[in-house]
Amino acid sequence: MSSFNPVPKGEAFFKVEGKTGPKPKKPLKSGKRTAKRRAVVVKMKKLCASIGVASCELKMEPGCLRDWALGFAHSRKSRNIVTDAHWEECALACIKCHERIELLPEQDMGDVIRKVIANRPKSVNR
Ligand SMILES: [Zn+2]
Repeated sequence: MSSFNPVPKGEAFFKVEGKTGPKPKKPLKSGKRTAKRRAVVVKMKKLCASIGVASCELKMEPGCLRDWALGFAHSRKSRNIVTDAHWEECALACIKCHERIELLPEQDMGDVIRKVIANRPKSVNR
């Protein structure tokens, strides 16, 4: 061996770590927001149970389904829900009332939800 060469011709001597091509594709999973939403639902359900809220708090007539198809209606449009406080500022609402409140401007939505929260039994409002 007259000329020992540890670096094969045409290859960079220093390789850039971590840049070895596209990442393997992961299957689509639900993101952080979905996890957050679930966690808040668990918390809010407990809260509602503790104050005896088991039916729609919005009671928009006509059309309110009372204790059927319930979910949580937030005081903000989804894209504006950022902090924990935003997530927890919500009222138990049937799907009919929820649909109706979602059509309101965000300010009005917020007013309705905050009024409902303010009128809950005192022990709830931490
Ligand atoms: Zn309702």
